[in-house]
Amino acid sequence: MPEEIAPNWFRMRIPLPDTPLKELNSYLITGNERNLLIDTGLNRPECLQAMQCELQELKVDLSKTDLFITHLHADHLGLASRLACTGRRVYLNSFDADIVRNWVGFDPMLEYAQACGFPAEQLRTALDRHPGFKFRSEQVPETTPLTEDAVLTCAGYHLHCLHTPGHTPGHLCLYEPGRKILVSGDHILGDITPNIQCWSNEQNPLQDYLASLDKLAGFEVEQVLPGHRELLRDIRTRIRQLQKHHAQRLDEVLDCLARNEATPYQVAAAMTWDLDCDSWDDFPVTQQWFATGEAVAHLRFLEEKGQVKRSENDNLFFFSLA
Ligand SMILES: [Zn+2]
Repeated sequence: MPEEIAPNWFRMRIPLPDTPLKELNSYLITGNERNLLIDTGLNRPECLQAMQCELQELKVDLSKTDLFITHLHADHLGLASRLACTGRRVYLNSFDADIVRNWVGFDPMLEYAQACGFPAEQLRTALDRHPGFKFRSEQVPETTPLTEDAVLTCAGYHLHCLHTPGHTPGHLCLYEPGRKILVSGDHILGDITPNIQCWSNEQNPLQDYLASLDKLAGFEVEQVLPGHRELLRDIRTRIRQLQKHHAQRLDEVLDCLARNEATPYQVAAAMTWDLDCDSWDDFPVTQQWFATGEAVAHLRFLEEKGQVKRSENDNLFFFSLA
């Protein structure tokens, strides 16, 4: 059942089976001439069916519906090519659109993960079970690139694009100043923390993420519409909690390295995770993958700050306190 959260603005819950995220929040704004659909779901039958049901209930004509995708991940972009028909636009930020366009496959990421100490024999399984890989769209729709300050108009709403890198390099939030509504995508979530992963020495996504949080703290927001889980109202408190979470994570990483030098995989195994498993070895391999990516993001942040240093031995990265 679509839920009306503001006049002509609906939230639709799209199930994401077998993921800890549980559901995607897709949003639909219905206008006189055109509608705007924000984020879509994974490219799998359960998502498509749920989406079609919701759209039918709202009597939406897809040929008059443009799509806005907050970021490139498959739970947001995956269904876009299935819903897209001629004459409509699929808006995606230009950074993520470049990544999608220049995609060379997962090999560089797998190679990097191996250098981070991820067990080589597990790499293929990690990838094969990765929902982003399994349920990606087989065909990427042509996208209309958007950057900071672009404004989309629909049903009298003015949706300002805010570049909020961190979760992905180009992640965009939408801000509606009249109603003080923020579509936060996966930049701000309520009861779970957005996953900040890094798989390259050139990036520092945690620094980007923290800067993007600071940026949003300056906006007057009365309603936050996140990409997953429940909607929230108090953005400032949530921003403070997320900042504190990462500060604690960084301390945890430093503590771990105070005992011994370690690979990012070993650091991830030593960090605390909110998962129902007795030990690191019991973690599903996909969760180990996400955890290792998070550990790298925190290590890269500390490396740029000069608090940790890296050595390379036998194609493996080892981090220690600087
Ligand atoms: Zn997501």
